[in-house]
Amino acid sequence: MCGIVGILGTEPAAWRLVDSLRRLEYRGYDSAGIAIMNNGEVSRMRAKGKLIGLEKKLLGDDLIGNMGIGHTRWATHGAPTEVNAHPHTAGQVTIVHNGIIENFLALKAPFEAAGTQFATQTDTEVVAHMLNRELDKGNTPQQAVATVLPQLEGAFALAIIFKGNDDLMIAARRGSPLAVGHGDGENYIGSDAVALAPFTNRVTYLDDGDWAVLSRTKVSVFDQDNQPVERPITH
Ligand code: GLU
Repeated sequence: MCGIVGILGTEPAAWRLVDSLRRLEYRGYDSAGIAIMNNGEVSRMRAKGKLIGLEKKLLGDDLIGNMGIGHTRWATHGAPTEVNAHPHTAGQVTIVHNGIIENFLALKAPFEAAGTQFATQTDTEVVAHMLNRELDKGNTPQQAVATVLPQLEGAFALAIIFKGNDDLMIAARRGSPLAVGHGDGENYIGSDAVALAPFTNRVTYLDDGDWAVLSRTKVSVFDQDNQPVERPITH
C-alpha cells in the first residue's frame, strides 16, 4: 500500500506530482512513476527504486503538461521492475492503483483468450483493459468506470485518466484510503491529506466504495451503487 497522487492543474504537473509522492514516501515503496497528459496525449515515465531515479529521468526528459497521475508501488503481483511500475496503459486508459485486485486472473482470462497482449505481470493492468473495452463499445469514461468497478474484488485506490480528455480524472476507493483536494481552478487527488498539503487545505475524504469524477472546476462523487452523493469538504 503506497501512494497515489493526481493533479488537474494550471501549471506543469510533473514535478508537482513528484513532490507530492515524496510526501508519501513514509509508506515505503519499490518503484515510482508518473503519467502526464498534453494536448490529449499521455506520456509515462517510470523507474525502479526510489524517487531519485524518476527525478533523474525527468531531469533528462521533462514531461510537459498540466495534468497527470503519479504512483509509488509496493509490488504485490509482478516483480518490482520498471515494466511493472505504474501507471499502466491500455488503449485510451492510463491508471494507477494501490491495493490488490483479488480476482484479476478470472478477469484477465477472457482477454487472454481473445489474444490481448498484457505488458505487465500486475493485477492492475486488467482494469485498464476492462475500462478501455467499455470505451471501445462507445461508453463514456464515467459509464466505463460505473460498469467496471462492481466487477472488481479486493482492496483498491485508483486514479484514471483518459486519452483526449485533458480536463477529466476519475478516482475510486474501496478498502484503501483516497482524498480529493479542492483548489482554485485546480483539483487533486491523493492517498492522504499530507500528499495534498502543498496544493490545498480543502479536502474531501471519499467514503468506502466511492468514486469521484474531477475536472479543474468541479468534483462529483458517486457511491458504490453509482448514485450521486455529497461528501463534506473539511479543512
Ligand atoms: N497490486 C498492484 C501491483 O502489484 C499495486 C501495488 C501497490 O499497492 O502499490 O502493482
